[in-house]
Amino acid sequence: MKILVSNDDGYRSEGIRRLREALATLAPVTVVAPDRNRSGASNSLTLDVPLRVFEAEPGVYFVPGTPTDCVHLAISGLFDFEHDMVVSGVNDGPNLGDDVLYSGTVAAAVEGRFLGLPTIAVSLCSAGSGGGNFAAAAEIARLLVAQLLKKPLDQRFILNVNVPDLPSNLQRGFRASRLGFRHRSSAVMRAQDPRGRPVYWVGPAGAEQDAGPGTDFDTVAQGFVSVTPLQVDLTRHAAIPVVAGWLDGIDG
Ligand code: MN
Repeated sequence: MKILVSNDDGYRSEGIRRLREALATLAPVTVVAPDRNRSGASNSLTLDVPLRVFEAEPGVYFVPGTPTDCVHLAISGLFDFEHDMVVSGVNDGPNLGDDVLYSGTVAAAVEGRFLGLPTIAVSLCSAGSGGGNFAAAAEIARLLVAQLLKKPLDQRFILNVNVPDLPSNLQRGFRASRLGFRHRSSAVMRAQDPRGRPVYWVGPAGAEQDAGPGTDFDTVAQGFVSVTPLQVDLTRHAAIPVVAGWLDGIDG
């Protein structure tokens, strides 16, 4: 059993260091992670330039590339051995509801979906500026991996885990949840560069809209670790007949 660890905050972040330490008590761990913060990279692959891999220390590699680049390389030829599962994180900030569409943390886990075991994305619901309870979140990740080894799940699962920013002794336990969703995000912030030309900053994510009981938002708000099973198939299966009927009337 070999674990591949990645993230989107970069290989030097506290979250990935804590995660590596915690998981190394269960199995050999390799880290392949971006050289810097690539939060919001989603599932992007670098196709226009070659990728280089650097070794920071034995078992820790960094790549000037995206989280998906890192995991793709690591499971598709970088090593002469196979990993069994990917654990991504611990992200500095939540990945709740529609955040998963943009998240590089979740993307790194998704890229490991063809390996033998379910993949896990772990995010700490901190304010996103460091200093949170990363050790507690890493311990949560260790408990989940240990549970997977003891009680295997369908290998198609991707588990999106959000941990309340609390010390271990105040964590209330685990809850399976569904993704909620957010309101539309704030407008982009317009500013000026030194030459008077407009520049724009993407604004913060919207407030929660669908955040009632059973959602990941509510679970974390109650102090529980939220565990949401994700699938890659985005097909709205129930809408296929609706679309088929709607297509019927097109001329030509
Ligand atoms: Mn991040």
